[in-house]
Amino acid sequence: MWMQTEPLDQHLSNDVVSLFRLIGQMANDQGYRVYLVGGFVRDLFLQRPSQEADIVVEGDGPSLAALFGRMTGWKITVHKRFLTATAVAPDEGSSLRRLDFVTARQEVYPRAGSLPVVRPARLTDDLLRRDFSINALALSLNQDDFGCLLDPVGGWQDLRRRLIRVLHDKSFRDDPTRMLRAVRYEQRFGFRMDRKTVRLMKEAIRQHFLATVSRDRIKAELLKVFQEDRPGKILLRMKDLGLLKEVAPELRVTARTIATVNLFLKRFQDYQKKGAGDLKDRTSPLMALLLPDEGAAVSFAQRFQFSERWLRNVRGLIQVAREAVLNQPSDFVFALRSLPPEMALAVSVLRRDVSPRQWRRYFFDWRLVRPDVTGEELTRWGLKGKEIQEALTVALRLKLDFKADPSLQRAFALLGRQPNRGATPSEGGNDGRDNS
Ligand code: ATP
Repeated sequence: MWMQTEPLDQHLSNDVVSLFRLIGQMANDQGYRVYLVGGFVRDLFLQRPSQEADIVVEGDGPSLAALFGRMTGWKITVHKRFLTATAVAPDEGSSLRRLDFVTARQEVYPRAGSLPVVRPARLTDDLLRRDFSINALALSLNQDDFGCLLDPVGGWQDLRRRLIRVLHDKSFRDDPTRMLRAVRYEQRFGFRMDRKTVRLMKEAIRQHFLATVSRDRIKAELLKVFQEDRPGKILLRMKDLGLLKEVAPELRVTARTIATVNLFLKRFQDYQKKGAGDLKDRTSPLMALLLPDEGAAVSFAQRFQFSERWLRNVRGLIQVAREAVLNQPSDFVFALRSLPPEMALAVSVLRRDVSPRQWRRYFFDWRLVRPDVTGEELTRWGLKGKEIQEALTVALRLKLDFKADPSLQRAFALLGRQPNRGATPSEGGNDGRDNS
């Protein structure tokens, strides 16, 4: 069960190793045992360095964390009720950003005279409750065995064989959300489930175990799917396994819709790189792109308790993608201005009739244009209420479409003036007051 592998030193930077050695020393001073566990250990062996680590302490986790904070300046937050503490690096550039100290669960002695529970067994219990063998690995940080691997269920071997394997036959029954986790890890790492795990999953799907889980928990796992780098592959696999219809029958996952999702992801990244800093939420538009119509959107929003605003945006996306006439620059601006930028980007991948070049111009120019006249000026000129709004709309339309419309250019030439172009970089309402 214990094995000596390449020490931590070989995979991590010196700074991080020094921090772990310090934690090990402090634990020794307190008489505790302390281990790195879970995803951090898995990712270390896969050489995909993670910035967050879980640390299990056989002893008092929060007090070890507090000591660590005093020694290093890391910011500690204690969650007394759960016997846990979080440490956040003082320096944003640090290769390790966050440590979660968890107290190994204290064992109950059932009756006097029963065998005492030895310390490593407490950690082993903790590892045996985990989802998959590759997540049930621990590395000791104590001085005497720093870097030793504890592997009670053969997770290290599974990492090498690239397998996702549950620890026992009832795993999916105990926690059906693990089915989503299994597919997520499988596709993230390019692993596969072993035959037995697939069989157990199919059985769990057939018996609708997911129906016993709260929608909140399923939602949390589903959101994690959409936060992965390549959600499309995960969703296709979920569909193949029959898992998708148990989780969210509203989502239409086909080769075609996933191609659209992938195009969205590419464009999202591309536009962010080019400076569209207001593109933030990737998850909502991704889900929206898989909802075929408003009925599906309503049912999905109800199932997972998404807000009215969320649903309004998804409906807006569906309507604009289906109905909007997008010819002149102002058509884009007026059709899309009630949508958050991410949803407008989702429209862009659905509307293949519009060229990528036009979409780029919309995102980096047109949507930032403000009218040359402000509401205040119009008030001074004696316009009121609705008239002001109308005038601002016309002014914006003129400014946006001027370049694209020769008849407007001629009209302005006759009048002897042109509207000033020049977009303001600021975002926000199009009420014309922002004319800096
Ligand atoms: P990720 O890279 O997806 O964040 P992670 O392994 O860090 O991976 P978490 O969801 O943060 O994932 O969970 C931390 C650890 O807790 C996992 O490695 C796993 O050992 C355990 N775990 C999480 N969820 C479950 C579950 N549903 N059942 C059993 N163990 C779980």
